[in-house]
Amino acid sequence: MIPAFDAAAEFAAAAPDLEAAALRALRSGRYILGDEVESFEQEVTDYLGTEHSVSCASGTDALTLAFHALDIGPGDEVVTTVFTFFATVSAILACGATPVLCDIDPATFCIDPVSAARACSPKTRAIVPVHLFGRMAEVDPLVALGYPVVEDAAQAFGAISNGRHAGTIGAVGCHSFFPTKNLGGFGDGGLVVTADADLAAKVRMLRAHGSREKYLHELVGTNSRLDALQASMLRVRLRRLDEALAARRAIAGVYEEMLAGLPVVTPAPAPELAHTHNIYVIRIPSGRDEVAGRLAASGIQTAVHYATPVHLQPAMRPFGYATGDFPEAERASREVLTLPMFPSLGPDGARTVANALRGALR
Ligand SMILES: *Cc1c(COP(=O)(O)O)cnc(C)c1O
Repeated sequence: MIPAFDAAAEFAAAAPDLEAAALRALRSGRYILGDEVESFEQEVTDYLGTEHSVSCASGTDALTLAFHALDIGPGDEVVTTVFTFFATVSAILACGATPVLCDIDPATFCIDPVSAARACSPKTRAIVPVHLFGRMAEVDPLVALGYPVVEDAAQAFGAISNGRHAGTIGAVGCHSFFPTKNLGGFGDGGLVVTADADLAAKVRMLRAHGSREKYLHELVGTNSRLDALQASMLRVRLRRLDEALAARRAIAGVYEEMLAGLPVVTPAPAPELAHTHNIYVIRIPSGRDEVAGRLAASGIQTAVHYATPVHLQPAMRPFGYATGDFPEAERASREVLTLPMFPSLGPDGARTVANALRGALR
């Protein structure tokens, strides 16, 4: 039996260091923010080569805090991709702004810059590319449109394009430490990164009820802080991140080689560091669900990211979108299949999956 993601195996791979870090945090007597969180923020800032990092309670909150800090609210429009995890859009809605969706580039599954340009209007206040599945989306053409770009880098911590880390190209970058992400914690966590000191200071206040001085509230914020336990363990994960990303790329290499010639489409080539393979997604142009069923029967768990594009989600009904509005995202939702991907799967695990897929396609 091979799961799509094995959280317990990922813990076991670094258990002694993780346990020591967690124990240190538990014994410190300081459980919210504090030294562990400050050290983590500094280490992550250095790793990403950015100026400011502000941790928070989740990737969803990172996006929401970033939009608040940019003063985005009711009456404003935020342009984003229709093919993403729903959190990208719910963060826009949480600020009272209106998400304006656009279609994807079918080769990369990421936002199509031409579609994004067409979606802009006088009400546009930000554009949100998503570095989907771990691959860097094209950010520069969006920056060139002149609106603040908020990068949803939740799936792509550690991806690098032209020497710049995911999340550090636009005005703001948002990361998630949900356990399945590249830098996965052992609970929820998130991070806002920016080169703008004022924006960082604002996010820092917003995550703590709008205060920088105890019991003095300059803004109306929320409670969205990282806890010391997560920070202590994320510091261990960060030290081993390059190793974990190399393991992901090795697995992707095995898949790429072993699936060549089969009636599936493997991820389009990307400059080596630009794809972190957080989620390994292939296309099966016909019979996706039957193939997934046969894989399950042979003990290989798969997933579908994402079976329903954002515009067809029940929660989006008030916006009046219809089937046919975003043909590329809709086609992707019918064809995509996610194969098991986590560093401890290893090349042997990947070979087992690829062989099973070969059989399932027959
Ligand atoms: C995971 C994810 C988020 C939200 O992160 P959480 O930490 O789960 O709140 C946002 N956007 C994308 C694309 C994600 O994959």
